[in-house]
Amino acid sequence: MKDPILIVGAGLVGSLWAVLLAKRGYQVEVFELRDDPRRAGFKGGRSINLAMSDRGWKAMERAGIKDTIRQQAIPMHGRKMHDTTGQLTFQPYGEADQAIYSVSRGGLNIELINIADQYGQVKFHFGYKCLGLEAESPTAHFEHRETVERLSVKASRIFGTDGAFSAVRRSLMKALPRFNYSQSFLDYGYKELHIPPTADGKHALDPNALHIWPRGQFMMIALPNVDGSFTGTLFLAYEGQTPAFEQLHTDEQIMAFFEQYFSDAIPLIPNLLEEFHENPTSSLVTIRCSPWCCEDKVLIMGDASHAIVPFYGQGMNSGFEDCTLLDELLEEHQGNWTTTIEVFNATRIKNANAIADLALRNFVEMRDKVADPKFLLRKEIAAHLNKVHPEFLPLYTQVTFSHIPYSEALAEGEAQDALFEDILALKDIEKNWKGHPEIERIFKQWMANRQARATA
Ligand code: FAD
Repeated sequence: MKDPILIVGAGLVGSLWAVLLAKRGYQVEVFELRDDPRRAGFKGGRSINLAMSDRGWKAMERAGIKDTIRQQAIPMHGRKMHDTTGQLTFQPYGEADQAIYSVSRGGLNIELINIADQYGQVKFHFGYKCLGLEAESPTAHFEHRETVERLSVKASRIFGTDGAFSAVRRSLMKALPRFNYSQSFLDYGYKELHIPPTADGKHALDPNALHIWPRGQFMMIALPNVDGSFTGTLFLAYEGQTPAFEQLHTDEQIMAFFEQYFSDAIPLIPNLLEEFHENPTSSLVTIRCSPWCCEDKVLIMGDASHAIVPFYGQGMNSGFEDCTLLDELLEEHQGNWTTTIEVFNATRIKNANAIADLALRNFVEMRDKVADPKFLLRKEIAAHLNKVHPEFLPLYTQVTFSHIPYSEALAEGEAQDALFEDILALKDIEKNWKGHPEIERIFKQWMANRQARATA
């Protein structure tokens, strides 16, 4: 019998990849560090919910579980901004029917494991930590967390989906002579805070929006859960700024900080002090590397090859898109793994680097610019241009509601920055942009230049 395909890590990407491989009839063995979340309860260690957008949904469709997941997802049609006085403003993400969806990380992971398990040829092994691998054979080595039993598994090929601090990636780093790697932490950490449902079981805030408390150098956000609660996340500098986590130790300091910046959120978080003290402050990392493979024997995917900060809501989505693209390539090349992995490695890395850049940029947008009238004006004009000229897609739409490669979206976003610099410099644009004749002229000139560049 042929050696099975091995997947290391049964998180979101690994369990989806197991489903897609099983659908193609492969024998798959999945080794996961944690206990089976269906028995032990999900211990994800980070964000309880995530925003799923079009790239993620496409993968769900390919796996045949889009409808099931959609039933448990909450559409968020735009951002709801909370200012320091508690005033709310709403900014749609796109057209009325466009939304990103809040999904439960644990629920989604368990669903994916269940679906994979329904295929007889997928076998899960929980509680096994990957210690490393030999790429040439390829053989991976594991140790059981409790029994410390060790075993080595030879496979036809190995996929590393073991997250940002991947053991598979570490082995590639040793095995490949010119492996490029960079890891960069933000000076900011995040802390989750729970917003329970109201006494009558309803959401305490509008559930169909992603709530943001933008405060310039820092922010809080909240995404809805199906049980009527929200998960709030505070993003704040660790140190070196005012305010920063290092200045928030005593109950008085924490309350004074919330009263000054998030007073409307205080009644929503009844266990604020307890949670602030007990919940961890977690770090935010960007990881880039290349190559992602050793021949056609080992490939790293998802956070293992491209971990990004969460501000574009694209980490999971891009990992799921990895699965879609690989599956499409496999189909196109009629099961030829050598070509599939070669093409994927050659084409995907620049897109992962692009979404990493976009995610870093979006932190500034979320914490600061969404409260800036000029930024809001730009959004309005962009939406107007999109309506009149549907071929013009605002950057957010390209990233979130399309399958345009991230690197193309990034380049287009930079070109759009130049367009809006000219438009927003127009005299009296703030007072009266609707029907401003110069907008159309500048836009047409910009489009013409863009087309000329594309054909040059
Ligand atoms: P992981 O989910 O990290 O899974 C890796 C798996 O491998 C885990 O199950 C782990 O236990 C296992 N593992 C690790 N080491 C080993 C080992 N040595 N041996 C065996 N198994 C191992 N993305 C979005 O698209 N939308 C969002 O809204 C969003 N919000 C986020 C908010 C926050 C605060 C954070 C931190 C991230 C967010 N993300 C979001 C990103 C998203 O969480 C990740 O991109 C996604 O989880 C990556 O999936 P993965 O399967 O590659 O890795």
